[in-house]
Amino acid sequence: MGLFSNRVDRTQIKPGDHIYTYRAVFAYTHHGIFVGGNKVVHFTRDHGTSSNSNTPSSSNDELSKLLSGCSTSPDCGFQQRKSGVVLSCLDCFLRTGALYSFEYNVTPTVLFAKRGGTCTTATSDHPDAVIHRAMYLLQNGFGNYDVFQNNCEDFALYCKTGMLPIEKSGLGRSGQASSLIGAPLAALLASPFKMLIPGPVGVATVTAGMYCMSRYATDIGVRSDVVKVAVEDLAVNLGWMDGLQGAFQQNEASSSNND
Ligand SMILES: [Zn+2]
Repeated sequence: MGLFSNRVDRTQIKPGDHIYTYRAVFAYTHHGIFVGGNKVVHFTRDHGTSSNSNTPSSSNDELSKLLSGCSTSPDCGFQQRKSGVVLSCLDCFLRTGALYSFEYNVTPTVLFAKRGGTCTTATSDHPDAVIHRAMYLLQNGFGNYDVFQNNCEDFALYCKTGMLPIEKSGLGRSGQASSLIGAPLAALLASPFKMLIPGPVGVATVTAGMYCMSRYATDIGVRSDVVKVAVEDLAVNLGWMDGLQGAFQQNEASSSNND
């Protein structure tokens, strides 16, 4: 793994690694958590919606696409209904793309030098914790609460670090936010650039550095508006339980109909 490319061979990745590939000729990256056994847990935007989830066979397009195209693994394409979290084999995850490894714990210098969405200054948790979060979310889904807003990179970052940006977790809008996070954070958020620019600097330098600054300020390892949320607490703390129970009841109802 060099400074300019995170490309890796599939023998180099370990369970708990955050991997990604390029889709549509480098137009965007797709991220996932390698959980071992040639399996990847990832978040897709093709999760079943209420309009087309009446029959299990048509509950989502991604599942049928994966199943029809996969001869490698029988459980490839496993997905709970109404959940965007999918288990795929590595081949289906990559499609025809190359394999890349997302880097953690990089220095700010490396962060600036690399293309966005390839590394973070955040530290990864232990692989066991990473796999636990990914598998938990695969099994439990998100109910109706789309915390990651179809962002597969946020999903992988959360599995690796347990940290959610406040705006995406919904905490910033809820009454719980003030008690959980407290007032000093608001002051910090209001002045991210003051912390980064210690003294008077030339205007040209500031302009040239703006891109880097904004990437630095939005990196999950740097920003202060993130909270660590245990995966078991996601549903409880963020009010997902109603949605989850509703989904489970629907599952039971439709499976009894099928019998
Ligand atoms: Zn597959």
